[in-house]
Amino acid sequence: MLEPEKMIWTPRAWLTDPATRGWRSDVLLKINGRGEWASIESNTPREAAAARGAQCLNEALLPSPVNTHSHAFQRAFAGLSERRVGDRDDFWSWRDRMYQVALAISPEQLKSIASQLYVELLRGGYTHVCEFHYVHHDVDGSPFHHPFAMTDALIDAACEVGIGLTVLPVLYERAGFAAPALRDDQRRFATNVEFVISLQDYVNARGIANETPLNAGVAIHSLRAAKPDSIRSLAERVRGPIHIHVAEQTGEIDDCLASTGLRPVEWLAAQGLLDPRWHLVHATHVTQQEIHAVSKAGAGVVLCPTTEANLGDGLTDVAAWFDAGVASSIGSDSHVNRDWREELRLLEYGQRLQRRQRNVIAAPQQFDGSTAARAFSMAVDAGAAAAGLLCWGLRVGARADALCVNHHQAALLGVPDSHTLDALVFSSPAAPFDAVMVAGRWVLGANDDASRAGVVSGQANSIERDFAAAMRRLHRSN
Ligand SMILES: [Zn+2]
Repeated sequence: MLEPEKMIWTPRAWLTDPATRGWRSDVLLKINGRGEWASIESNTPREAAAARGAQCLNEALLPSPVNTHSHAFQRAFAGLSERRVGDRDDFWSWRDRMYQVALAISPEQLKSIASQLYVELLRGGYTHVCEFHYVHHDVDGSPFHHPFAMTDALIDAACEVGIGLTVLPVLYERAGFAAPALRDDQRRFATNVEFVISLQDYVNARGIANETPLNAGVAIHSLRAAKPDSIRSLAERVRGPIHIHVAEQTGEIDDCLASTGLRPVEWLAAQGLLDPRWHLVHATHVTQQEIHAVSKAGAGVVLCPTTEANLGDGLTDVAAWFDAGVASSIGSDSHVNRDWREELRLLEYGQRLQRRQRNVIAAPQQFDGSTAARAFSMAVDAGAAAAGLLCWGLRVGARADALCVNHHQAALLGVPDSHTLDALVFSSPAAPFDAVMVAGRWVLGANDDASRAGVVSGQANSIERDFAAAMRRLHRSN
């Protein structure tokens, strides 16, 4: 459905067109009937914009990085795995406990959990999220009467809240390289190539004429969890992005070496599979040769700093990925954090702690050497392909998504305009974004401005109530 054209004006905006990348002043942005940026003009005085009918804002505008890796149901587990009861806790013992939530959650509970999560992601500055979606079946492993009931829960949550959504149905076939099938506690995840493709088609069909932006790619859980023939078959048949968990844990590298003689990324490259559709989630434990192979293939990586820290995964060489020109997007994955500023801060802090240096991600010849600006720019640019979107950011042709920066917040008081991004990322905590636009609609509204009353404004309380009720039911026995 086409909306009437409209215009907004801002004193400052971070534009993402390669020719004009960075801050520009007095910016007039026109939104077409499809909810895309139709034109963007800098140096237009406020009075002239108002005379042309623009909605004039007081805040600076930022583009939003896509959140390229989410398991929405794990929001129900955030903060509930932070105790050690034995000699050692690690990723694998965390996973066993996470499965208890995966085995219990119903479609109705998933809808409540995801709605709350998506409101939090909007406040944290994400306007689009990629769901790496693998909990499909009923608790006993049999298909639901509507086989895509869990997917509908995610789509309904995104539509209620107004956040853009890319669903990535996951191919999940076996428990390990040498295992013929899944473990019993993985029964809700079982899929094959046909299921994944039919679910992708289902989501894309629902996305047509949907007011909330909705599309689909596919995912492969990991090399250990899918058969090589199935991976090849899926890659041959699908269009759109292909995501895969890869090289997150050293144990997985050892298993892959034992099974194939190659490391995971090395195996994908040797099979000739990698191309620009592929987005390698985590890619933590990799060699320089593997980084080179990903770069040569034009594939991307998805970095999830707060989850990787929470799970004790290890640190990847972020500067090496950036310097190799590999599109590096960010995801909040298990949702122990829901704000991209914290992801970017931890992305850099991990490198500082490891190297005992500062501003490791920065490049002095780019963005005046700003670490935050380089990481932010990378995250914004890299998210589009991972979400199957052709164009993204504050540039003509992209979807009209934007974040209003609350300039009254403590982190920005007295900070020179040129350091806004530096302070937003490195002077924490930064305030939530209180006005957020998706596809030309205000989905979160500014408190003091009725003209920006968001889609979510009247519903936030009921979404919180439903979330709390779902949490109580899921964790009743704990
Ligand atoms: Zn994941």
